[in-house]
Amino acid sequence: MNSINIAIDGPAGAGKSTIAKSASRKLGFIYVDTGALYRAVGVNALRRSITPSDAENVEKSLADIKVELKFIDGQQRVYLNGEDVSEEIRTPAASMAASDVSAIPAVRAFLFDLQRDIASKNNCIMDGRDIGTVVLPDAQIKIFLTASAEARAKRRYAELTEKGIEVDYNNVLEEMIQRDYNDSHREIAPLKPAGDSVIIDTTDLSLEQSIDAVLSLISQKLGK
Ligand code: C5P
Repeated sequence: MNSINIAIDGPAGAGKSTIAKSASRKLGFIYVDTGALYRAVGVNALRRSITPSDAENVEKSLADIKVELKFIDGQQRVYLNGEDVSEEIRTPAASMAASDVSAIPAVRAFLFDLQRDIASKNNCIMDGRDIGTVVLPDAQIKIFLTASAEARAKRRYAELTEKGIEVDYNNVLEEMIQRDYNDSHREIAPLKPAGDSVIIDTTDLSLEQSIDAVLSLISQKLGK
C-alpha cells in the first residue's frame, strides 16, 4: 500500500495533538503521537531511578524494554513492557524526562523504525519534533505548528488542570521554555521546520480556526 503521510511538527502546546486528532478523524487516518514514545522511555528511566539525562544508563536500559503503540478504536495507547502507560506518561515529570531522553541518539535510533513502520503501513498524521525533517522526509504534507510560549503554557495549564493534575502556571511556562530550548538546541534531530513545510502560527487562532487552517491546507495539497 502506498500510504499517505502527513507530518506535523512544532513545540509543546502548539495544538499539534488536538488538531491532528480532529483532522485524522475527518480524513479517516490514524493519528500517531510520537511524543508518547519518548515519554514511555522517560517513564521507564524514572521508574528505574535512572537520571533521564544520563545517556549511558538510559542507553543500557533500552536493552530490555519494549515500547509499543496500539490503536484501539482509532485511539492510540502506548505500552511499556506490555503495560498500558498512556496516562502515566502525561505528568509534568514525564514531560521533562521525555525531553531529556530524546536528546540521546540511541533513544532516537531505538524509536525510529517503529515510527517508520507505522507510517509505511497506514495513512496517518504523525506528530512530533522531527517527523518532517528526519522520520518521514518524504511525507506528502508537512506542517510546522507554532505559537508563543505564553499561549502554549496557558493551553497546557488548562489541559492539566482539567485532568485534575495540580500545577502552577509559572512552572508550566518555565518548563515549556526549558523544553523548547532543549528540543531546539540538541545536536540530534533538533526541532526546526522542514524546508518544505508550511508554518502555521496558532497564537491568535482559536482551536476551531487552527483545525480549519490545517484541514484546508490538507485538502488543498491532497487535491480534495
Ligand atoms: O509531544 P510531546 O510533548 O509529548 O513530546 C515529549 C518530548 O518528546 C518533547 O519535549 C521532545 O523532547 C520529545 N520528542 C522528540 N521527537 C518527537 C516527539 C517528541 O524529541 N518526534
